[in-house]
Amino acid sequence: MARPDLMDRVVNLTKRRGLVFPSSEIYGGFRSTWDYGPLGVLLKRNVKDAWWRSMVQVRDDVVGIDSAILMAPRVWEASGHLSTFTDPLVDCRSCKERFRADHLPESGACPNCGKKDTFTEARHFNLMFKTFVGPVEDDASVAYLRPETAQGIFVNFKNVQTATRRKPPFGIAQVGKSFRNEITPGNFTYRTREFEQMEMEFFVPPGDGSQWFEYWVAERFSWYVDHGIPEAMLRIRPHDPEELSHYSAGTSDIEFEYPWGWGELEGIANRTDYDLKQHAEFSGEDLTYFDQESDTHYIPHVIEPAAGADRATLAFLLAAYSEEEVKGEKRIVLRLDKRLAPTKVAVLPLSRKETLAPLSSRVADLLRTHLQIDVDDAGSIGRRYRRQDEVGTPYCVTVDFDSLDDDAVTVRERDAMTQERVPISGLLAYMQDQLGS
Ligand code: ATP
Repeated sequence: MARPDLMDRVVNLTKRRGLVFPSSEIYGGFRSTWDYGPLGVLLKRNVKDAWWRSMVQVRDDVVGIDSAILMAPRVWEASGHLSTFTDPLVDCRSCKERFRADHLPESGACPNCGKKDTFTEARHFNLMFKTFVGPVEDDASVAYLRPETAQGIFVNFKNVQTATRRKPPFGIAQVGKSFRNEITPGNFTYRTREFEQMEMEFFVPPGDGSQWFEYWVAERFSWYVDHGIPEAMLRIRPHDPEELSHYSAGTSDIEFEYPWGWGELEGIANRTDYDLKQHAEFSGEDLTYFDQESDTHYIPHVIEPAAGADRATLAFLLAAYSEEEVKGEKRIVLRLDKRLAPTKVAVLPLSRKETLAPLSSRVADLLRTHLQIDVDDAGSIGRRYRRQDEVGTPYCVTVDFDSLDDDAVTVRERDAMTQERVPISGLLAYMQDQLGS
């Protein structure tokens, strides 16, 4: 299948099956934002939960926080976002369209009107959304929507360290919304103006930065592979020295092969002691850590794995999408990792006849307090299997007329399409075992 085609197919599927809708669609859409539908919210939540589980729950050296989106404007002065979080912009003098100077075609022709050498000098455009806090719209009440979740972690470093009595190396993780007034949003949910990030700041003794940087690059790469992205669709791209942020002692992107080419999925940066130093200077607070063993104060260095929940969700969808032929018919399957699948089990009463209803309800009730299920009794069983396959449901449970006698159901697995008869009394345990939950 041609790759651009894959994007159309996935976008089409997500709309049709209620994973992702264009935002404000009845008003013609809002282009730069998207809404997650009933299945999409489950998928994205599973992605965030899987991240949280591996970054916080199963580790004893990382804790979580949930900081506010609106922060003191001084935060953005200290972090450098007010002065440097900009994109260079040029205008076409002929058609007046605006473009990112670093995204122009080599030909020098305007991507909109085609005229050559019509661009103005580049001007810097700050990507932070501005708003006002309180009833007066003046300079003193300007605030910003956070463009990254990381700064909420840095400003809480001392609070968290004191409250949890942590000693470097330790990390603070956060998942939440960020906002950037991107010049060229696009490629579906890849680049939007409102998105969710999954970031972790790992504080280490000053000499240990490089070693932990290597560790986190490898760790994060494995996370994507472990959750179902084939290694061939991933690569690690170290930034060139001239591409590095001024504070970074090393950055590597984990890139995914999107249908339009390789693009960033996550960035891992060795931010040195830049952020804590800046916040110490701007706030006047002492943000050093006192190491009792060596009897010294130091500012920890920071390794940051910064991922996007929407980009990761998109990558998992693209990697999982497959089409195949089964008995002469096209079958679309989302081969999502079972932990990420929006619905874990679909309960399918073979017929709508009254006689099957009580048992089907019993089976559904047995499962639904433990697992996300769906109940579908519309159409032929074959069509119902296909509907579940295309949204990645790992198991279908069919309640048939034999079930009334043997108190067992047929469990069908999504990928191999194998079927197994399972007693209802052991169904929940069987499912939990298969799903590893
Ligand atoms: P890009 O170069 O693609 O603009 P970035 O290097 O600015 O990304 P970071 O600041 O490193 O991105 O943010 C960390 C992660 O947050 C990215 O790897 C991506 O997954 C996600 N992210 C950043 N900007 C956006 C956006 N506009 N829409 C969706 N996700 C985003």
